[in-house]
Amino acid sequence: MNKTALITGVTGQDGAYLAQLLLGKGYRVVGMAPRRGSDTLWRLRELEVLDRIEVVYGDVTDMGSLLGLLARFEPDEVYNLAAQSFVGASWDQPVHTADVNAVGAVNILEAIRQRRPQARFYQASTSEMFGAARAERQSEATPFYPRSPYGVSKLYAHWITVNYRESFGLHASSGILFNHESPLRGIEFVTRKVSDGVARIKLGLADSVTLGNLDARRDWGYAGDYVDAMWRMLQQDEPADYVIATGTSTAVRDMCRIAFAHAGLDWERHVRVAPSFLRPAEVDYLCGDASVAQQRLGWRPRASLVELIAMMVDADLRRHTHGAGAPRTRQH
Ligand code: NDP
Ligand code: GDP
Repeated sequence: MNKTALITGVTGQDGAYLAQLLLGKGYRVVGMAPRRGSDTLWRLRELEVLDRIEVVYGDVTDMGSLLGLLARFEPDEVYNLAAQSFVGASWDQPVHTADVNAVGAVNILEAIRQRRPQARFYQASTSEMFGAARAERQSEATPFYPRSPYGVSKLYAHWITVNYRESFGLHASSGILFNHESPLRGIEFVTRKVSDGVARIKLGLADSVTLGNLDARRDWGYAGDYVDAMWRMLQQDEPADYVIATGTSTAVRDMCRIAFAHAGLDWERHVRVAPSFLRPAEVDYLCGDASVAQQRLGWRPRASLVELIAMMVDADLRRHTHGAGAPRTRQH
C-alpha cells in the first residue's frame, strides 16, 4: 500500500519540492498550511503539484489541529517544515518565532507520541544553530552557538526531537540543513533578492538592489537536492541527526558577482549597501561537512552554486518578462 506523508509548511519552498519528490515515489501527500488572507499556493502551482496533493488548513501552534490531522490521515511519515523561517524577522517577532518554531515542534512530537507513535518524524533543523561557529567546517559533532531568535528557537526544536527519540523511542530525525535556495525561495532571502534584482535591472525595471552585510559567507545548496536528503533520513532503520551541506562557502559579494555576471552585468555598478539591512548579531561564516550523510544516506549535492544562481536569475527574468509566478512582498 502507498505510504502517506504529512508535510507541515507545504506552501513553503521546501514543502513544494518535497511534495513533488514524494508524489514521484507514489506517496499520498497531505500538506498542512496555515490559513492566510492572501494566496500562498503559488509554489505548489509552479511545480504543478497542487492538484495532486491534499492541502488542509492547520497551524503547528494549534495542538488540536495536529491531533485531528494525525487521527484523520494516519501518516507514515511526518515532515515538520513549518516555520517563521526568516532570520531577519526573528528580531522583530521573537515570541512568534519561538511559538511557531519551538513550541510548534514539541506540539507535533507530542501529538505523534499520543496518536501516531509509529510515524516517522523529520525536523527541519538549520545551520543557524551553529551561529558563531566553533569549527572551520561544521558537522554533527560541532557545538551550537545560535546568534538570532530564529537560531535559538530552532535549537529547542532540535533538542526536543533528540529528547523524544531518546525518551519515547520515536523514529525522529533532525536534518541540520545549510542554506538552500531555488527559484521558489522567498524574496526576502539574499540569493532570491539578488536574482530578482538582477532580472529587474537587466529588463530596465530597476537600477540597483540594496543589501546589508556583503562579507557574510554561506554554504548555499539547491533545495531540490536537499529535500531528497530529508526523505532518505526517514528511510533508515535507525533515526539520527545529519548535516546536509555542499562543503563550499561563498561570500555574499561573490554570490552577487556570479548572479550579475550571468546576466552580463557588473555587480559593483548596481549593488548598494544600507545599514538598515544589517542584523543586530550576524552569523559570519558557515561551511558544512556532510560526510556522515554521504556515507550513511548515500546523499550528495548535485547543483553547483553557479548552476543554482543561473537557474534563479533565469526564472526571475522569465517572471518579469511574462508577469507571472511568484508574488513580490516587502523586501528585507
Ligand atoms: P519557508 O519560509 O519557505 O516555508 C515555511 C512554511 O511554514 C510556509 O509555508 C509557512 O506558511 C509555514 N508556516 C509558518 N507558520 C506556520 C504555522 N504556525 N503553522 C503551520 N505552518 C506555518 O521555508 P523553507 O521552505 O525555506 O524551509 C523549510 C524549513 O526548513 C523551515 O522550517 C526552515 O526554518 C528550515 N530551514 C530552511 C533552510 C533554508 O535554507 N531554506 C535552512 C535550514 C532550515 P506562510 O508562508 O503562509 O507563513
Ligand atoms: P540566513 O542565512 O538564513 O540568514 O539567510 P539570508 O539569505 O537571509 O541571509 C544570508 C546572509 O546574507 C546573512 O549573513 C545576511 O546578513 C546577508 N545579507 C546581506 N544583505 C542582505 C539582504 O539584503 N537581505 C538578506 N536577507 N540577507 C542579507
